[in-house]
Amino acid sequence: MAFTLAIVGRPNVGKSTLFNRLVGRRIALVDDRPGVTRDRREGDARLGDLEFTIIDTAGLEEADGGTLEARMRAQTEEAIRLADVVIFMVDARVGLTPDDHVFANLVRRSGKPVILAANKSEGKVGMAGAYEAFGLGLGDPVPLSAEHGEGLSELYDALAVHM
Ligand code: GDP
Ligand code: MG
Repeated sequence: MAFTLAIVGRPNVGKSTLFNRLVGRRIALVDDRPGVTRDRREGDARLGDLEFTIIDTAGLEEADGGTLEARMRAQTEEAIRLADVVIFMVDARVGLTPDDHVFANLVRRSGKPVILAANKSEGKVGMAGAYEAFGLGLGDPVPLSAEHGEGLSELYDALAVHM
């Protein structure tokens, strides 16, 4: 099985934007556990000379059964379970929210290696939020702009040590 990276975090932080930037070929719209993982997206990804499988968690409103919170938790836990390394993404412009802490606890409890990504970090506003992310206790945040393609060499460095 290829080295697998899962992108985890609350909705709207930019997970799919990073997925789309890194992925070359989409492997599957995963459909193995109806309601929970139906819209998990997997792809073959590349960052510099690193090649890996990447999992995007998203589209939770399309899952059915259980509360929204339970479905988000289940999908995220499944992605973490499959991952060798987890990217935990926060929105550096919004700053930390209660939902960020819920997802951070899932990642922390998994014991998997985690890369803390502070997305939307382009410009000064973003940098302030990136510093706030230190408070999660998940290590040094990697300031990233998935939309503008900034911070990818720092992401490379953070990922390369695990591969
Ligand atoms: P997801 O719900 O975590 O998958 O988030 P999306 O990838 O769908 O992105 C949510 C919104 O944030 C979209 O409007 C994106 O265009 C925007 N976005 C994603 N990455 C960045 C970024 O690096 N900077 C800014 N300013 N916006 C971003
Ligand atoms: Mg998404």
